[in-house]
Amino acid sequence: VDKHVAEWKYTTCGYCSTGCSIEVGLNEAGKPVATRGHAEADVNRGKLCIKGIFEHELFEAAGRGEVPLVRDKPYDSWRQTSWDSALDKMASEITRIQETYGRDSFAVVSTGQILTEEFYTLGKLVRGCIGTNNYDGNTTLCMASAVSGYKRSFGSDGPPGCYDDFEHTHCLIAWGSNLPEQHPIIYWRLKEALEKRKFPLIVVDPRVTMLAQFADMHLPITPGTDLVLLNSLMHVILAEGLEDRDYIEKHTQGIEAVEELVKQYDPVTASKICGIDEDTIRNVARLYAKAPAAMSIWTMGINQSTHGSDGVVGINNLNLVTGNIGKPGGTSLSITGQCNAMGTREWSSCSGLPGYRALENPAHRKQISEFWGVDEDFFPEKRGMFMTDIFPAIETGQIKGLWLVATNPMTSMPQSSRIRKTLEKLDFLVVQDAYQDVESTQYAHMYLPAAVWAEKEGVFTNTERRVNIVRQVVQPKAQSKADFWIFTELAKRFPNSANMTFAQSPAEAFVEMTELSKGEGRTLNISGMDHDKIEAARGIQWPYRDSDDGLKGDPRLYADGVYQTATGKANLIALPFINNNECPDDDYPFWLNSGRVVEHFHTRTRTGKIGNCNKFSPTPYMEMNPDAARDLGVKHQSYVRLVSRRGDSVVMVQLTQRVPRNMVFIPFHFHDCVNRVSLGLLDPHSRQPAFKQCAVRVEPI
Ligand code: SF4
Repeated sequence: VDKHVAEWKYTTCGYCSTGCSIEVGLNEAGKPVATRGHAEADVNRGKLCIKGIFEHELFEAAGRGEVPLVRDKPYDSWRQTSWDSALDKMASEITRIQETYGRDSFAVVSTGQILTEEFYTLGKLVRGCIGTNNYDGNTTLCMASAVSGYKRSFGSDGPPGCYDDFEHTHCLIAWGSNLPEQHPIIYWRLKEALEKRKFPLIVVDPRVTMLAQFADMHLPITPGTDLVLLNSLMHVILAEGLEDRDYIEKHTQGIEAVEELVKQYDPVTASKICGIDEDTIRNVARLYAKAPAAMSIWTMGINQSTHGSDGVVGINNLNLVTGNIGKPGGTSLSITGQCNAMGTREWSSCSGLPGYRALENPAHRKQISEFWGVDEDFFPEKRGMFMTDIFPAIETGQIKGLWLVATNPMTSMPQSSRIRKTLEKLDFLVVQDAYQDVESTQYAHMYLPAAVWAEKEGVFTNTERRVNIVRQVVQPKAQSKADFWIFTELAKRFPNSANMTFAQSPAEAFVEMTELSKGEGRTLNISGMDHDKIEAARGIQWPYRDSDDGLKGDPRLYADGVYQTATGKANLIALPFINNNECPDDDYPFWLNSGRVVEHFHTRTRTGKIGNCNKFSPTPYMEMNPDAARDLGVKHQSYVRLVSRRGDSVVMVQLTQRVPRNMVFIPFHFHDCVNRVSLGLLDPHSRQPAFKQCAVRVEPI
């Protein structure tokens, strides 16, 4: 028997947003000993990346929390406590802070990692019982610009395309997306499509990433100038009459302002700003516009920018003017980051109310207040702070208490040494996480041990809107509890819960969500789904209505050309480029870029402890061009001090031609490394930080 596996259990990978269907093998004693890809799953067809292959090891990985802990102040010794007293204390501290400083003085920051039913229940607790408006997720660090851009262009969030589009496209541009390392199985799907049928693969990235090495054309753009390139592509398409005029007239509004603006972005002018030569701009524009179907994908290279939201709208503009939305191979597909970043966008109420409802919409507030049994006046009339605004508000004393759910800002936020001082200012910090040893716990007053991934049950939504099920494979470790249980038990301690009903199980919560998803014209419709159907199909894409036959949802949104705006037409938006980045100068002559490596996920809470993932990538490093290193007398594998206007960091050099002479690159996963020096200016629409654009100098030591 393979690795002495006695039984295989179905579940969905808990790392990235690809959404691979996996099976965890248990031995005779019920211990997880192996993982394999599910051969019949549409998404991964039996394949897994290195993280998925060793995922069964994370249940027993070092650093798991086992019991609830409390202390009076950070750095004191922890005291073990019971769940009842921990939750009593938490509810009374929240109430004390809110009564003293106002309802919004307690903030909640969650994640893209927990299950959708848990997001829904947390939203019900925060919006319906606690009543703070300062509630957000760590998705503001990764996907907020995509959300904002989709809403501005199409009137709603929700990626319109799917992986199957690779099989139909005739031209693909990857904007700041390094699939082989970030989303290996999506890359494998793309590669499989390319092996069957050749089409141009164009990669826009300042660094020679792994995907750029496989591309037909690599455009090494100057950091932060995507909008200039996008406007210039539009300039060529409109000047040469390559646009889809019929689609523009029937399905969009705003072309006049766009036509006027992009006149300024002729390829000669644009090439001086974005660093891509004029002939390449013209060639790419013609290839894209003349293709029978063309698609764009993007990840953090677009989103993590001072104009990330505009970058997304710019990509949507390009697809709208060429008639490339909602058709096979023609789409605008943001590749999401975390396994359930989509679930939090759809159902968590972070940015409003569940099911893509807005606090600003009186009809939405009324509908949810009646459904939950909460007084409508209890809801705020517009969304509160984003995650990136909550931390400055702690510094100024506006926020006194914070609850972190499965997120680790001490490593993930820009300017991490400032975040440490910020967390130290809190009257009350609760960290709820499967791992007690996350860096943020050092500053907490309370630690709640959460069950991890397949120790519990519920659904994730992946990049292509596919809802897939995480089945419970093993019991939660020691006294740890499912986040779902923690949320429902805490809710009982707030007066509003007397008039509300909280589901007893994730399956029951899912039924509530299906009810809320019904309605004429709603794209986010999951009314035909239930947990068993989802497992039988190994994931179903929404929309999937109760009237739908079979086990397949719609692969694409907006196939009928009708959008979620008031007029039903998509918005074409003119996007002037304003250079507001911190750029290299004499004192800080290098661009600093950051990104993911294939072995690790986010802040290494899990992969940092899993044998093979950590063995292959054990330490942080900095990629540096050999010519730049020679100028400074820096040697391969020597240590250097990296200095920015925010602070410094010591890191080992890896010499490589992947980065140009004026750029260095560092993986973002490691604590006390790249985010000690990053700047993180915020996008005005999405409040997402520009992790990828700041200036540093390198000092040999
Ligand atoms: Fe998991 Fe993503 Fe790897 Fe698939 S590609 S196994 S979802 S980490």
